[in-house]
Amino acid sequence: MTFRLTADQRGIRDQILRICATFDDDYWLDRDRNGGFPHDLHRAMAEGGWLGIAMPEAVGGAGLGITEATILMQAIAESGAGASGASAIHMNIFGLNPVVKFGTDEQRARMLGPLIAGDEKACFAVTEPTTGLDTTRLKTMAARQGERYVVHGQKVWISTAQVADKMLLLARTTRREDVSSPTEGLSVFYTDLDRNFVDVREIE
Ligand SMILES: Cc1cc2nc3c(=O)[nH]c(=O)nc-3n(C[C@H](O)[C@H](O)[C@H](O)COP(=O)(O)OP(=O)(O)OC[C@H]3O[C@@H](n4cnc5c(N)ncnc54)[C@H](O)[C@@H]3O)c2cc1C
Repeated sequence: MTFRLTADQRGIRDQILRICATFDDDYWLDRDRNGGFPHDLHRAMAEGGWLGIAMPEAVGGAGLGITEATILMQAIAESGAGASGASAIHMNIFGLNPVVKFGTDEQRARMLGPLIAGDEKACFAVTEPTTGLDTTRLKTMAARQGERYVVHGQKVWISTAQVADKMLLLARTTRREDVSSPTEGLSVFYTDLDRNFVDVREIE
């Protein structure tokens, strides 16, 4: 096994570093001092087509892998953006990977297309105030009521939730006590982040 980058991977890295060179230390110092989201970097990444690096070509992505996406993230971080600059982008690249892997064609087009274009931002909500790394014990419950799900619970530390338009939300649809394996009975929902969760749609 070799960890050496291929010529294509070096090319990705070089192109990202070139884009990031336009966001200098003063830009990031300003973001740090004001706590603002780097919307211009997000837009630049979308315009370069980079947000779809690990998403299917059928929906406008590049169809590359998590390794290439990681190279992209590392280049952003080392450019001076640091972890918070990289985190501002990474949710839109990795967060919806469950949809990349398990979504239907219709779901991929509807959910991934706007992310790749940079028209929407998404976050991924797993962690809860009383449930950290022991994910299968999360307490957020989604109960079906007719055509909708009603969700009750709390989420915390959700990167970019302050600016996201959409949230991929992990919740229990069957209680842990009622499943044979703790990983069963968990579902993800993709919802508008209007803070009222009025448009909850089940993915699986
Ligand atoms: C910068 C940042 C961004 C984040 N963004 C997101 C996000 O976008 N979405 C999201 O859902 N979450 C996010 N998180 C939360 C993160 O994913 C983790 O879930 C969270 O940090 C862990 O929760 P906790 O602090 O309650 O730790 P705990 O789960 O309480 O763990 C505390 C310590 O106990 C250890 N521990 C836990 N369980 C066991 C066990 N059974 N046996 C032995 N040791 C154990 C852990 O290794 C750890 O050292 C983010 C966190 C950070 C710091």
